[in-house]
Amino acid sequence: MIQRCFGCDARFPLDRIIYTCDRCGAVLEIALEATDFDHPKFAGRGVWRYAPLLPGDAANAVTMAEGATGLHRCDRIGPELGISELYLKNEGENPTGSFKDRGMTVGLTRAVELGATAVACASTGNTSASMAAYAARRGIRAIVLIPGGQVATGKLAQAIVHGAEIVQIDGNFDDAMRLVHELSVEDGDIYLLNSINPFRLEGQKTLAFEVCETLGRCPDVVVLPMGNAGNISAIWKGFKEFRRAGLIDRLPRMIGVQAEGAAPIVETLRSRSETCRVERPETIATAIRIGAPVNWRKAVAAIQESGGDCGTVTDDEIVAAQRDLARREGRFVEPASAAPIAFLRKHGVVEASTVVCVATGHGLKDPDMVLKTSPTLIRAEPTLSSLREALGQA
Ligand SMILES: *Cc1c(COP(=O)(O)O)cnc(C)c1O
Ligand SMILES: [Zn+2]
Repeated sequence: MIQRCFGCDARFPLDRIIYTCDRCGAVLEIALEATDFDHPKFAGRGVWRYAPLLPGDAANAVTMAEGATGLHRCDRIGPELGISELYLKNEGENPTGSFKDRGMTVGLTRAVELGATAVACASTGNTSASMAAYAARRGIRAIVLIPGGQVATGKLAQAIVHGAEIVQIDGNFDDAMRLVHELSVEDGDIYLLNSINPFRLEGQKTLAFEVCETLGRCPDVVVLPMGNAGNISAIWKGFKEFRRAGLIDRLPRMIGVQAEGAAPIVETLRSRSETCRVERPETIATAIRIGAPVNWRKAVAAIQESGGDCGTVTDDEIVAAQRDLARREGRFVEPASAAPIAFLRKHGVVEASTVVCVATGHGLKDPDMVLKTSPTLIRAEPTLSSLREALGQA
């Protein structure tokens, strides 16, 4: 395997620490060898089951049994949306409660192979929660930059309890991202684990493999939220590789969803622009509150190559979809993770009987968002009559 520039195709050896191309500045990806696709043998469960298609040595993996998450059929919401098989790939079942763990196991394994003394990231929450846990498991320093006052309580608690060094930046995610990138480029011992890191995306591509293996075929459509857009890029790469290995015979359409107040990629695709940026991204779905997504070129390619689509949903539509999933399917996902269901309800999907929505993170990450939009709790005296009255059964 080698590192290849996504923009100009320049190639760099796998063991060189480099985050963007030094010729054109674009992001990199890991390119596999033709022989890697020759009857790869999978064994075990989770991300490292797919070791033959991953960089890094499974024997040295820093792992917490990530991946192998459930693919749950939505029996109630699916038919109502006119989709005969609607599934939720529930990434909240990962060790720290989001899909970030798939990437982090490969990223941390890489950091150890490189002899890094610290790992670092800018984070809207889940990356820091995941990186802090994996760094703790390995016993190396974790440095986290967060945008001031914009990180969900559960995610912040995770980074704190795992012992990360947390710095709040007086700015938004995009400021934190720029700073941590500069820090790791200047200090070679600090290894950057944002989704600009192509090794992390290799771990995340295993979601595609699992979906195909669980279904026994390729779905028609995959819908997921886009923030920095590493995940849509990674998953698309995964499907392409599974086809190249002869394990599926076609590819799904990829649909990327953004919040109305933070939709740089949707705007870029609509206007066919060569830039991708919104100045002050706003949405209650903090995981996708990103104005300058580092992987936007990869995401645009994934949507266009797959014949997919993209679109926006409002915060109200996100909250409604979150409730819908919780109340009708029994699945509590965080706001960003409800965006795909909100998209399907709003825009529909044509010619698709098997649709997979990626529920990127667990609902308990962000309980405040639910409490904020809920009615006040009813109260009762500790007597049966008072209880009956409270329940309206007096
Ligand atoms: C990180 C994250 C996203 C966005 O993923 P990208 O790869 O940045 O597009 C969406 N939802 C949740 C819950 C996340 O943690
Ligand atoms: Zn380049």
